[in-house]
Amino acid sequence: MKEPCRRARPTWLALIALAITALLGGGFLAPATAAAREGRGDADRSATQDTVTGVSAKDLKGWAAAQRSADRERRAEVAGTHSTEKQASQRLRRSAPATGPQAKRAKAPEPGRAKTLVLYDTAGPYGHLGELYAMGVANLGGHFGTVTAKPVQEYTSGLIESYDATVYVGSTYYGDQIPDAVPEDFYLDTLLSERPVIWLGENIWNMANSVSLQEFEYRYGWDPTSSFYEVDGSVGEIGKVTYKGQQLTRKIPAGQDPGVLHPHLTPGGDNATVTELAQAVDTAGGTEKTSPWAIRSGNLTYIGEIPFTYVSESDRVIAFQDLLFDALAPDTAEQHRAMVRLEDITPLSDTTSLRAIADYLKSKNIAYGINVIPVYTDPKGVQNNGVARTVRLSQRPALVNTLKYMLNNGAVLMDHGYTHQYGNVDNPYNGLTADDFEFFRAHVDATDTVVYDGPATEDSAEWAQGRVTAALAEFARVGLPTPKLWTTPHYAASATDYKVFAQNFAARMERPLYFSGTLSGAETDSSRYLGQFFPYPVTDVYGTKVIPENLGSYEPEAHNNNPPRLAADLINNAKANLAVRDGFASFYYHPYQAVEPLQETVEGILALGYTFVSPESLI
Ligand SMILES: [Zn+2]
Repeated sequence: MKEPCRRARPTWLALIALAITALLGGGFLAPATAAAREGRGDADRSATQDTVTGVSAKDLKGWAAAQRSADRERRAEVAGTHSTEKQASQRLRRSAPATGPQAKRAKAPEPGRAKTLVLYDTAGPYGHLGELYAMGVANLGGHFGTVTAKPVQEYTSGLIESYDATVYVGSTYYGDQIPDAVPEDFYLDTLLSERPVIWLGENIWNMANSVSLQEFEYRYGWDPTSSFYEVDGSVGEIGKVTYKGQQLTRKIPAGQDPGVLHPHLTPGGDNATVTELAQAVDTAGGTEKTSPWAIRSGNLTYIGEIPFTYVSESDRVIAFQDLLFDALAPDTAEQHRAMVRLEDITPLSDTTSLRAIADYLKSKNIAYGINVIPVYTDPKGVQNNGVARTVRLSQRPALVNTLKYMLNNGAVLMDHGYTHQYGNVDNPYNGLTADDFEFFRAHVDATDTVVYDGPATEDSAEWAQGRVTAALAEFARVGLPTPKLWTTPHYAASATDYKVFAQNFAARMERPLYFSGTLSGAETDSSRYLGQFFPYPVTDVYGTKVIPENLGSYEPEAHNNNPPRLAADLINNAKANLAVRDGFASFYYHPYQAVEPLQETVEGILALGYTFVSPESLI
């Protein structure tokens, strides 16, 4: 029988899977990703890709423009005063006492017990982005241990000494328009501490001005006050970041790039050796020009942008994900693990193709996940001549037998919702299992765009629990084990729902949404959120465990102007992720596809040196 769920149909934004969105009223505009026109498809990989689009893009565009404008103003001011200041600085350097580290050298944290402090901006018209970015950092920090996040203005003297590392996310450009909210104590503590500080993006020049430029240069060997985003009046076209031999991508739409700071390296003090950790590659004008993307000197790692926008599966955020090990788990041994799960198995799934895939994976001794939707429903009869139909696992003993065969041959059972659709309405397509969202509302607008409408009206812990309980009951009814892992249908649910899933499952294997208000304690704003995927398991800002899915899925056909996503693409993404010293290559596969592309993907990933492990090995 034909599988109801066909495929994800990524848009141009398929490349974007970790994203910022911030809705400024009105509808959230996202491009169609999941087969809007034909009313079928699975948007699991596209759900997070949706999050970057529409209003969010508008928001990011404004933010980028504000940064470029503020940086031009700063450059103009520096140009007016630079010559005399520089002379003063030279004189002062000769007479200035050496700034020695006053805190004792930081010890490496015990594995898994690192404490991270994340500081973020809240001021200005784009201040709300600070919390979203900070969640991106905090979730990654949750791989290494515990994380405390707070607005930077709440920093108090000495605080960084209580943490193994501090990450400051500079997203509000402080200057003439917006007074500096960063406490001087943070600037001074950073300068004097041995504790690692990782600084993303803006305001590093304010630190130099605060502690004095000569002190900054003496310790760190570069001059942020004469470092800018633009060169020759343009941020250029930085489309790549090279890191540890990998070419990472950086795909930012024209006009929406705030740029990457070009650090001005200076002689500095005796110990101020600047290590260039990653290079930004600017291809404007057809020639490649490189500049540092990330540098380290003393206790300071500086990254010239916040790498949480327009993220793809081979994105420059990978460099940041790996750099965190230096601060939080420096003794980590290099290893590369892979995972695969079979997606959208319903009571109508074809047992022959499931067995073919099971036998292939068994032949390679590969453990894998099987994501099962225990109840298939088609309330409008779109696949049944207009007659409503519901089929439960308990009505499909042959399929259940096949699932048990898979479980006896390396598979682990995972729960992929209860019905993977919502009521008897189009959400957004047709009400059909595996096509529609289950825990979030969405519609398709006149431009063929999937619009997220927020949680269901009846959304509550009780409602979500009711659906989970019903799903687990169906598994139990047919003698299947209780699944330990969950994947949210179409990767979208409310913060309330995610917490319910965490109460019922050891971990989720997916790309979640992180809503505004989670760190600040303000009321959850379901229209502003960060979508994120992970290269390693994390405990996220909801306090729940998420295991990686960072490669997406095989999608052989182009749709809605979107290119196909072939085995070679997944393998290339896996290669980029080799830069993460203890990272994963994790993908999913629809078993109604032929077995050959799965073989090609698996064998390509194995050839890169990855070892496949069971998703349950991470719980
Ligand atoms: Zn699905």
